[in-house]
This record gives sequence, structure tokens and C-alpha cells, in this order.
Amino acid sequence: MSKTKSSETVKVVVRCRPMNDKEKASKFELMVSVDVKLGQIMVRNPREASEHPKVFTFDSVYDSNSKQIDLYDETFRPLVDSVLLGFNGTIFAYGQTGTGKTYTMEGVRNDPERRGVIPNSFEHIFTHISRSQNQQYLVRASYLEIYQEEIRDLLSKDQSHRLELRERPDTGVYVKDLSSFVTKSAREIEHVMNVGNQNRSVGATNMNEHSSRSHAIFVITVECSELGLDGENHIRVGKLNLVDLAGSERQTKTGAQGERLKEATKINLSLSALGNVISALVDGRSSHIPYRDSKLTRLLQDSLGGNARTVMVANIGPASYNVEETLTTLRYANRAKNIKNKPHINEDPKDALLREFQEEIARLKEQLEKRVGKKKKRRQRRRGGEGSDGEDLEDGETEDDEEEGSGDYWREQQEKLEREKKAVLEDHSLVAEEKDRLLREKERKMEDLKKEREVGEMLAAKVKAMESKLLVGGKNIVDHTNEQQRMLELRRQEIAEQKRREREMQQQMESRDEETLELKETYSSLQQEVDIKTKKLKKLFSKLQAVKAEIQDIQEEHIKERQEHEQTQNELTRELKLKHLIIENFIPLEEKNKILNRAFFDDEEECWKMKAITRIEDDHQMMSRPPSAVGYRRPLSHHAHIAMRMKPDMRYKAENILLLDMDLPSRTTKEYQEPVIAPKVAAALEDALRDEDEIQVDASGFHSSSGPTPPASASSSLRKPKSGRPRTSKKSSTPTSPFSPCSPASPLYPQSRGLVPK
Ligand code: ADP
Ligand code: MG
Repeated sequence: MSKTKSSETVKVVVRCRPMNDKEKASKFELMVSVDVKLGQIMVRNPREASEHPKVFTFDSVYDSNSKQIDLYDETFRPLVDSVLLGFNGTIFAYGQTGTGKTYTMEGVRNDPERRGVIPNSFEHIFTHISRSQNQQYLVRASYLEIYQEEIRDLLSKDQSHRLELRERPDTGVYVKDLSSFVTKSAREIEHVMNVGNQNRSVGATNMNEHSSRSHAIFVITVECSELGLDGENHIRVGKLNLVDLAGSERQTKTGAQGERLKEATKINLSLSALGNVISALVDGRSSHIPYRDSKLTRLLQDSLGGNARTVMVANIGPASYNVEETLTTLRYANRAKNIKNKPHINEDPKDALLREFQEEIARLKEQLEKRVGKKKKRRQRRRGGEGSDGEDLEDGETEDDEEEGSGDYWREQQEKLEREKKAVLEDHSLVAEEKDRLLREKERKMEDLKKEREVGEMLAAKVKAMESKLLVGGKNIVDHTNEQQRMLELRRQEIAEQKRREREMQQQMESRDEETLELKETYSSLQQEVDIKTKKLKKLFSKLQAVKAEIQDIQEEHIKERQEHEQTQNELTRELKLKHLIIENFIPLEEKNKILNRAFFDDEEECWKMKAITRIEDDHQMMSRPPSAVGYRRPLSHHAHIAMRMKPDMRYKAENILLLDMDLPSRTTKEYQEPVIAPKVAAALEDALRDEDEIQVDASGFHSSSGPTPPASASSSLRKPKSGRPRTSKKSSTPTSPFSPCSPASPLYPQSRGLVPK
């Protein structure tokens, strides 16, 4: 297998999304024009229409009508193909929030037309495998997220767990304990992605905001084993990183303090580190590339200037209010074009899982064979013996029909043991004891036989399960439709390639045109020369202006950035001063020194940590627990130990107190319950109240000057049977007036009622 060691640049493509309904409704102006043929993006200045549009050239550009499948065929398919050959590949989606990063990476899941790179690559990979011949594949997937410089495994059950980065000299940086799932089909790997996506949204209160502030990385590892020319099996491992970056818009730190400031600083840390890495790589002068500045850049170290093929998709929005961010994105992408990678095929790496699988399968098979071999030998031996006894032997069994052979063998053995057991039972010449012993022995043998059989079956099942994970193609190779599809894909690929070449040629021609213009020109007269040169001068002058404007823009941007950095620095300094103040004034010197002595800088994680408190200084051994304290909270004397168990008094039971749960106070109140009224009383009350409604009161001769009683409430309270109060008491509570209803002198009121007068 040839190894490509030559370097190649990061491929950068730009995609401009269409105006969305809101932008159309608000009549935003279209500021971005895309020349697909030339691979150019032109951005107009919304503030100054007369200014020349800014022009950027890329490997490919896609306008608002671009189809997902075109992007895939032209830009991503070649990359995934090289991953299948054993290269590492990375696809980044970079851009402001809402410009189509997730649309490009994932797209609309259920719509085949609008599926993004990730689902399309699943299809691609598994179709490739099904068409392959004499190759064995193992495909696995992982999914992780970086949010505020913390790595979360999106496929693990425990979503609160944070993962760490580790580095090994042979394999580079990796995520410790990251789970990965072996998948056997596009459907399975899609399921893995869906599970991860669900987990992604679990912790987030606002999914949109969360996804715009976190980086999601889907990793597909494809291992392929093939017989080499040397007769040995060789394994190639390709790793595909599919990265949906956080939104590139700047998180505002203005006015933020404490936690909020830290959050804002951390959110964009990975992105600004990515920018710094790109700058350092392109610069050429700096020998130090700050990969270690962030988790993202460390994890994707290989994709930037290392062993990988990389495609960056820069997503932009077309509307006028996006222009500033669009320009920033285009400048960022423009710089990334110049990164040089050195991809090569990863052949026979030490950590290939496929190799482990193959070895394990071989080991299990060997074990299985050994068992079968043992059995066979035993049987042959026995057959020899039995043959001499004149018993008939079945034959015609060959070495290779193991499955059936072993089944027969088990049955044969079982039957034989049963026969022997029966013979022992029927043999009356044996002494009872002897019989028992023989029977037991037979039973034990049967038990052993069963166990052995089970173990054999288990081994076979294990081998089968492991083998099923390894994918082999070549099954559908004669399938006609499959063949046609393949041709179609090939044609599409050819067309994509053609387009790409055309674009390259056109770009070259453009630049050459300018160069050769001068050489070709011969002037017939001085005037003509002056005219042509003036024209040229004008052209060059406008170019100069464009460059000047660009310089100014960049300078302005730098100034803005610097101001922001300064602001952050000020805030951080202020916080540092506050902490210093607290330490100096409130922490005892002794404690401070203790902490200082324990603190150390962890190079691996690039942060300060505390040594464990039990560590003995200068002797890197953990202090062991004294023998008297094993199993207890603190050392105990032997006497206390015994007394604690034996004596009923509380003296040595101190440990128990610590284990006691809190005593909950018992309740001393009761829920309120309505008093129960005897049915008889209730009926009587009901009766009485019904009568009341019918009472006619004639108050025509009554002139009250002092009666303050609100009549409605008084009568309604009377009507309530719930009060259970004797109605006579109401009578006494009514204001006594000369016209009191109970007064016998008043002829107006019914006698026996005593109701409040109206
Ligand atoms: P990001 O991930 O960059 O924040 P999204 O991918 O979520 O942005 O895109 C925002 C919206 O724009 C989505 O509704 C998406 O469907 C739409 N969109 C983005 N790019 C395109 C495109 N090329 N064609 C059609 N719709 C698009
Ligand atoms: Mg998104």
C-alpha cells in the first residue's frame, strides 16, 4: 500500500444560505453575491454603495440554491473515500449562528433531499463496504460535545460525567473513557447519532442557545483488514471527525462579571484558540502552535497541520445586517486555506480494534477446536475399544461437519450414560452401596457432560457474535440495480470533478490574463499607449483602494479585538485583586502556606491542582490506614473494640451516633374535620330552613334609624346548617331594639321565629 506523504492544503468551501422568511418580510437587502463558476464571493458594503465589493476566492462556493447532494458529491465524497482508504478526515462547519452549520452537517433527517453530510456519509460508508470484496470492516461511532471547555460524552448513560483528554506518544491525543459503538448498518449508526442528539438537548434549557455555544463532534472510525501482497493481513484505520462548531459571533463580555464573565470567556475560548492555531500555522514564522490552548484544538490537532485531510465549510448569511460577521467569517476562512496538512494512510496502528477482534475470534475458535479435538480423540479411542467388542460403528462423518458431529457426540454420550445408568439400576448382583456409588458417579459424569456442552455452546455463540460485528462485503455484487447505482454515482463524481477542474482553470486564466496583458500589448501610437496605461492605472488604483480598505477593516477589527482583550484583562485583574485581598486579610498565613505547598501545576491538563491531603511529602506513597483503624472511622484500641461489641452500655458506641438518621418530630396536630351532625338533627334543620324561605315579612311600619345589621349576610349565616349553632343564640345576638322581633309588643313579626328584621 502506497503511503502519500506529500502535503496538501485545507480545502475551504463557502456556503451562503438563502434569505429566510423573516429577512424577506423585513425587506433586508441582499449583500452577498456568489459566482459558483469562478468560486468567488462578493460582499457589498451596506453603508457605502459606491465602494467596491470585497471579493474572496475559494476552492468551491455554494449559493442559496445549492443542494445537499451536490455539496456531498463535489466536496465531501472524496474526503470520505479517503477515510475508507485509511486516511484521517475532518469536516468543520464554521460560521455565525443561524447560517446553516447544522443544516450542512445534519440537515433535515427524514428528507433524503435535505440530508446533511453526516447521514450521507453513513450511507456512503456502508454502501462502500457492501460492495467491497475480500475485506473485513469494523465501523464504530462516538459523539462528544465541548461546552465551556468541558467534554461530555453524548453516548454515555451518565450525562453529568466530564471526560478528560490524554496524550500518548504513539497515538496522540485522545479522550479518556469515551464510549464508542460498533455499528453494522447505516440505520444503526443513525440511531447512535439520534441518541447523542437527544442527550445534547437534555441538559440545555434553551437548545438553540446551547448549540450555538457548544461544539459537537461526531467521530466515525473505519477499520479495514485486507490480505496484503506479503500474505499477511494488514489493517488500515481511517477516522472521520464531523464537527459542528459553536457560532462564531463574539460573545459579549461587556459588563459581565464573575461567573458570567468566566462563562463568556470560556465559551469562545475554543474558537479563538482555533483562530490562533490557524494564524500560527499560516504565518510560517512561529514555531509554536498553540494547540494546547483549548480542548477543541488539542483534540483536532491532527486535522490542523497534521495527519489528516480537512475540509472547512464556512457558512454565511446574505442579509445586510449580517455583513460584518460575514466578512469576519470569510477572512477567517481565507486564512484557513493556507494551512498545510500531511495526511498519510494509517496502516497497522497498535490500537486497531479490528486486530483485537480478529485475535479474540481466533483464540476462541482455537479453544472451541481444542474441545472438539479432545472429544474426537476420545471418541476414536473409544471407538477402537468398542470396535474390538464387536459393536457396530456408524461412519461417514467427515472432519469438517463439526456442528453436526458435536451434536451427535453429545447425544451419543448422553444415551450411553443413560444406558449405563439403567444397567446399573437393573443389575441385582451389585451390593446397594456399590450401586449407589456407581449411580452417583454416572450422574456426576452426566452433569460434567452437560457443563462441557454448555461451555462449548457459549464459546460458539461468542465467536458468532464477534464475527457478526465484522462486516464483509461482496454479497450484492451481482445485483443489477446496485451496479447501475454505482455507475450513476461514478458519473456524478466525474461531473463534480469536471466542474472543479473547470473552476480551477477559469481562476488560473483570470490571473494569467492580467499578467500577460502587458506582454502582448504593442502600441501603435503614444496616445494609445497613454490611453491603455491610464486604463490600467485606473484598474490598479481601484485594486489598491480595495486593498487599503481591507487593511483598514482588518486594523479596525484588531483594535476592537484588542479592546475586548484589554477589557477582559481588566476584569480578571480586578477579580484577582479581590481574591488577593480576601486571602491577605482573612486567611491565616499558616493555612495559606499549607495550600501553597499542596498546589501544583498539572501539565497534562494545564491547570493548577491540589495534592491529596494524605500524601506524605517527598515520599510518593499514600499513607496507609493504621491496623487499628481498618473498617472504622478512626483508630480504636483493642479493648474498645471488644467492649463495643459486648457491653450494652453506650460508652464505646460513639461511632453509632454518627450513623444515626435524624429524628423526625412526631405530629401533634390533626387535620380539621367537620363535626358530624346526626341525621335527625340535619333533617330538622333542613326543615326549619326551608320554612324560613317562605316567611313573609311586612316591614312597612318599621323605620329603623340605628339598625346596622347587614341583612343579607345575617340571613345567609342563619341559613347555614353547618354552623350547628342553636338558632336561639342568634336571636340573642340580634341587636335589641324597641322593635325587636321577640318583643311581644310587636305584632309585625311572626312570633315563634325570632328572625332578624328586614
Ligand atoms: P446554525 O447551525 O449555523 O446555527 P442552522 O443550520 O440551524 O444554523 O440553520 C438555521 C436555519 O436556516 C434552519 O432553519 C435551516 O433549515 C435554514 N438553512 C440554513 N442553510 C440553509 C440552506 N442552504 N438551504 C435552506 N435552508 C437553510
Ligand atoms: Mg447549529
